[in-house]
Amino acid sequence: MLKVDLGRLGREGSVVLETQVSAEDDFWKDSGIKWAGPVDFRLRTLFAGTGEVVVRGSVQGPLQEECRRCTRPVENTLEEELTLVYVSADTEAESEEAGAYLFEPIAGELDLSNAVREEIILAINPYVVCDPKCSGLCPRCGVDLNQTVCDCGEVESDPRWEALRALKDR
Ligand SMILES: [Zn+2]
Ligand SMILES: [Zn+2]
Repeated sequence: MLKVDLGRLGREGSVVLETQVSAEDDFWKDSGIKWAGPVDFRLRTLFAGTGEVVVRGSVQGPLQEECRRCTRPVENTLEEELTLVYVSADTEAESEEAGAYLFEPIAGELDLSNAVREEIILAINPYVVCDPKCSGLCPRCGVDLNQTVCDCGEVESDPRWEALRALKDR
């Protein structure tokens, strides 16, 4: 889906890829990312002077996440600027720490999918809450404490503590 024709890149120097990937697309399969609607990509690929291939652009889409406390759905817009650097296999060792990707053309194309997915996963905040004041679920009985109250919160008196307290008070 996110593939750059290297022949065209060679002829034109840079290739702009503008595309939309639907929320249900196989592109997101096994990524753990859920969207509430289509995701827009605008990526510009060019040959850097040093022999690297550099991709810059943006990704934007409506993220469908879950509140970490109460599991209610939370919709967030992901808007992320991406920069991907691809290096050839012989410079792999030094590129590893720089976060570069390996330049592995298949049938004259460079597939950006894996790198783009990886960058999106890194960009997503996994600790969303529906509201900073969200009370979450009761860890004991599981009710949504935003909607109802339960008795679990009340401190149960333990006879052993009672005995200790009685000693201390003496
Ligand atoms: Zn919540
Ligand atoms: Zn409870």
